Formats: sequence, C-alpha cells, structure tokens
Amino acid sequence: MRPIAEAYKDFPILHKEHNGHRVIYLDSGATAQIPQVVVDRVVEHMTQHNGNPHRGSHVLAIEASEAYENARDRVVEFINAREREEVVFTRNTTESMNLIAHSYGLNNLKAGDKIIITVAEHHANLVTWQYVAEKTGATLEYMYLDESGHLKDGEINKIDETTKIVAFAHISNVLGMEFPVKELTEKAHSVGAVVVLDGAQSTPHKKIDVQELDCDFFVFSGHKMCASQGIGVLYGKRELLEAMPPFLLGGDMIEYVKEQSATFNELPYKFEAGTPNADGAVSLHAAIDYLESFGMDAIEAYEEELVAYILPKLLELPHINVIGSTNPKEKHGVIAFTIDDVHPHDVATILDAKGICVRSGHHCAQPLGAFYNVSASTRLSMYLYTRKEDLDAFLEVLKTVRSVMGFKD
Ligand code: PMP
Repeated sequence: MRPIAEAYKDFPILHKEHNGHRVIYLDSGATAQIPQVVVDRVVEHMTQHNGNPHRGSHVLAIEASEAYENARDRVVEFINAREREEVVFTRNTTESMNLIAHSYGLNNLKAGDKIIITVAEHHANLVTWQYVAEKTGATLEYMYLDESGHLKDGEINKIDETTKIVAFAHISNVLGMEFPVKELTEKAHSVGAVVVLDGAQSTPHKKIDVQELDCDFFVFSGHKMCASQGIGVLYGKRELLEAMPPFLLGGDMIEYVKEQSATFNELPYKFEAGTPNADGAVSLHAAIDYLESFGMDAIEAYEEELVAYILPKLLELPHINVIGSTNPKEKHGVIAFTIDDVHPHDVATILDAKGICVRSGHHCAQPLGAFYNVSASTRLSMYLYTRKEDLDAFLEVLKTVRSVMGFKD
C-alpha cells in the first residue's frame, strides 16, 4: 500500500495558482480532483482503444467493449456485489436514483403506501420520491433529526407495514454523519420495504460492501471519487432489477425489435440504452485502482485524523456554528458551518480570494436547511489529498472573515 502522504503530488490541479495563491481545494464533497494516473488511463483509452462498445466486430469496438466491461467487473469487486448483472452504469447518483424511482417506484407503489426518507436528503433522493408519491398516490414521510444530527428517538418506528421504500443517505453531504444503516435496513426489511442507499458521500471515503449493508439498491457517482464527471453506478439486487421495466429506451437495451414491439436485453444492458460513457467507465476503473493503492480503510482513517485536527480548532473560534454533530468521530470528511452575521457566499468569496475553495449555499438539501432554520451554510470537505497545512491556511483566512466584513470582534 502507498502512504497517503504521497497522494497530494499525484494531482496536477493542486499545484495551480489563483490570485497569486496556491489553490487549496476543500470542496471534494461537490466533486473530487483527478490524479494524473486516471487522466493517463483515459488518454490511453481514447488514443488507442476508442470504439463503440457492444457495436461492431472490428478491433476497436472489441477493445472498447472489453475496457467498458472490465470497468464493470472492477466496480463489482469494489462494492462486493454478488454478480456483474447487478451493476448498471449511469451518468451519476441522480440518474441512478431516477432509474429506481421511475422503474421501481412508479411500478410498485399505490395509494396508501409510504415512502420514508430522512429530512437530511440531497434533492436527488427527495424530489424523485416527491414525484413518485404524486404519480402513485403514495405518501412521502420524513424521519426527523435532533439538534446534533441524529435521528430522533422513535422516528424509525415510522417505518411500518404500509412502508414500501426507505431511502436515505449513507453519509449526509451536509452533516457529514452516517445514518444507522443496519438498524434502518433491518427495520425496513422486517416490514417488506426495499432500502435505497445513497452512497454518493460514502463510496469515495470508506470500504463499501453491498452484501454486508444488505441494501436493495445502492447508488454513487464516479466524479466524487477521482473519476471523471458523467459516470455513475446503480447497484440493485438481481431479483429486483430482473422484475423492473427499462428506464430509457433505444439502442443496446433491446433483444429483438419488430415494427410494433420489442423485447429487452438481459441485465445489466436492459438499463443501459444508447452509447455508454466508456471513457468515464475507464476513468472509474482507474480511480478505483488508484484509491485501492492506498486502501479504503486507510483513506477513511486519514480523513478521521483530518477532522479530529480541524474541528476542535473551528469550534474554538467565536461566532462559528457547526451544523449537526460536533463530535469529530461522527463527521466523515464534511463540516458545514455558519458564521454569525456573515452570509456563506461572502465567507466563500473571502476564502476564494486566497485560493481556498469551499462550497456555500444550501448544498441541494433545502428541507434540511428549513428544518434547522439555516437556509445556507459554508461547507469544507476533504479527501485523501487534503493536508493539515491546507486546513491551517483555511483557518487563518476564516479568522479574518468577520473583520473583513467590518465587525469589531
Ligand atoms: N446524494 C448526495 C448525498 C450527494 O452529496 C450528491 C452530490 N452532491 C448527490 C446525491 C448527487 O450526486 P450527482 O450530482 O453526482 O448526481
């Protein structure tokens, strides 16, 4: 295994300058940066093996098919799916979620059924279920949180015999906290509901084993784990995917087409209409190889160390309010906060002037903001290339924010 201290130098973009400052990237929760090895593998694919996967018997179509299917096998291994039929390539978490909502949700729910999510969900795992509820007559119900970001006592009991879907983030993109997957999944399964786990913020940062998690669907995006944008994954248990109708229709997802009807391809191709993003799949393959060269457990432990380093320092500053838990052990590389009297966009702009990139806004989780009465916040999010000195630089600028805005203390 490579030591994580070596990771930083693998990312050319982290050596770029902005406003005369080295860029310090603390927005990996939005999208991760890409190491040179991933870029090189994609360039090699594009310059040596580019063809349309599954279409044609010439050398380049065959090589492109191999690259694309090898990437699938790598994902199967990475998340420990039982079989390759259970891994579908999509564009991102959002598209995977839409696939489940349309193909499973619209076809399995009816009036009187319940969909249960948490109030912390990203819009990708929220608006989708509003749509399913509206179309089917099912009810969308929320599990609420206490001040420290944990599910309130008893909320889990909202999952009852009428519940058909329980969908939640493995790790929240605002709270940085992990929901109790085992407890929620066991409860959901005890009433016959399916579990949709949003792995967008967990897959890049910790070892994922979908069999152990026992979720029915698991979704994530390549771009948050050092691959390029536009490649995502839907994992689903085979028996569920088998029973679901296709989501998108067109080339490659068919078995046989007649003038008035068509039969559909086998899994996973039934869900992959049109020319796929083979370059993206190659980049995801390369990104998994890259992350595993350090080890997912080591990446998780390193990020724990970073949070344990920065969070207490942040909490010591006056006028700072951290959203959710302030226990470093409960935050997975993501810390969202507000500064009294200063808009998060101003915080982000002041940091940006010094080359420091953080996210500000509602983080695509508006109901969570409304619930906590914090319509916007600033979020710093870390990854394996983040260094303690980056966090020190962030903190130094953060200390100046209120005085830059004209406050005396
Ligand atoms: N869910 C969570 C928890 C996320 O953090 C994100 C990305 N911010 C998404 C879903 C959506 O991911 P994408 O934009 O890649 O579809």
